[in-house]
Amino acid sequence: MSEGPTYGFDTLQVHAGARPDPATGARQTPIYQTTAYVFRDADHAAALFNLQEVGYIYSRLTNPTVAVLAERIATLEGGVGGVCCSSGHAAQIMALFPLMGPGRNIVASTRLYGGTVTQFSQTIRRFGWSAKFVDFDDLDAVKAAIDDDTRAIFCEAIANPGGYITDLDAIAGVADAAGLPLIVDNTSATPYLCRPIDHGATLVVHSTTKYLTGNGTVTGGAIVDSGRFDWSASGKFPSLAEPEPAYHGLKFHETFGPLAFTFHGIAVGLRDLGMTMNPQAAHYTLMGIETLSLRMERHTENAVKVASWLETHPKVAAVTYAGLPSSPWHDRVARICPKGAGGLFTFALKDGYEACVKLVDSVNLFSHVANLGDTRSLIIHSASTTHRQLSEAQQVAAGAAPNVVRLSIGIEDADDLIADLDQALAKV
Ligand SMILES: *Cc1c(COP(=O)(O)O)cnc(C)c1O
Repeated sequence: MSEGPTYGFDTLQVHAGARPDPATGARQTPIYQTTAYVFRDADHAAALFNLQEVGYIYSRLTNPTVAVLAERIATLEGGVGGVCCSSGHAAQIMALFPLMGPGRNIVASTRLYGGTVTQFSQTIRRFGWSAKFVDFDDLDAVKAAIDDDTRAIFCEAIANPGGYITDLDAIAGVADAAGLPLIVDNTSATPYLCRPIDHGATLVVHSTTKYLTGNGTVTGGAIVDSGRFDWSASGKFPSLAEPEPAYHGLKFHETFGPLAFTFHGIAVGLRDLGMTMNPQAAHYTLMGIETLSLRMERHTENAVKVASWLETHPKVAAVTYAGLPSSPWHDRVARICPKGAGGLFTFALKDGYEACVKLVDSVNLFSHVANLGDTRSLIIHSASTTHRQLSEAQQVAAGAAPNVVRLSIGIEDADDLIADLDQALAKV
């Protein structure tokens, strides 16, 4: 699809990366349910193992179904290459792995998915890596947090929950000035609403578990490379710029140019970390992506309707959604995510923790689950579930105060969603 006309987003979400199966003509991308691939001969096998020829060896590294998905996501994001992996959290580790080493750190936004805060504040320390969390609206604080050991800047385009939109252009400016890659988690926005690479991001990571698959069936992740970062300029990224002992001294950046990060992700990351996406999961996600724009339009339209209604409800203290004019980040929507602020938001009840518990127990159409980005509408009271191990002060800082409920608005009829919340709020 790289030659010929430039297609629009709706065309690319159906076609990018795919072509009729060369062996059978199958129009839909087959699920290549195979572990290994037969070599033409011993020379072919040797060339593949030396990375002198691109092809399939073993499905921990590459699989044709997964490859279609990687190319589709990379195309939709405007990147040069992509790597799929087993979950969004795997994608984050895979994105950091080539950049980091013991003693190195990342500067990360305080406004992140709860699981990412845990991964960055606790688990990565076992690799000798660390994260400094900073308010990304305070550019001086972001600059001040960067030191000689910093190897990346990390944020979410639309942060989950809290209804926050990162000023990606401003943060990319800080990252550029420091000679560091900017990694943007684009899970909540999806490339339909926001394309971080157009705002200066180096790498984009996804939990494909959410909107890209879209119906709560499989977990997966992806990393997309813009192909624009010079990994050799600073001497800070030896995994990409210097000879790789596991490939007879091959230098990824010198050899693969803008595809260095993608090739390293497959040839070293997937090979040795093994966080591989399976072809069944890739199939489900490919099915989902075909309707991404249609779903995101409805998610967003419904979210605006439900959030506007909630804002006028007497039992509601506040609604936190960048799609509403009341949001302090509303003016960033037009620039960062011009097609809307997405389907996720939180709201606070005047009556506190017990009222929230009663609400989640009283809904019928909404499902009380720890997930987001499903065609179904979902609800969760973070303080009694995902954030219950945190102190109240930590809950408040995370946008998950005891009186806050998070909604992931689905693609049902907005009137039915409002009616369900109305009857549940009446019981509170
Ligand atoms: C869910 C999520 C993740 C983690 O993805 P998994 O697929 O659950 O591992 C990371 N970032 C954001 C914004 C998410 O919503």
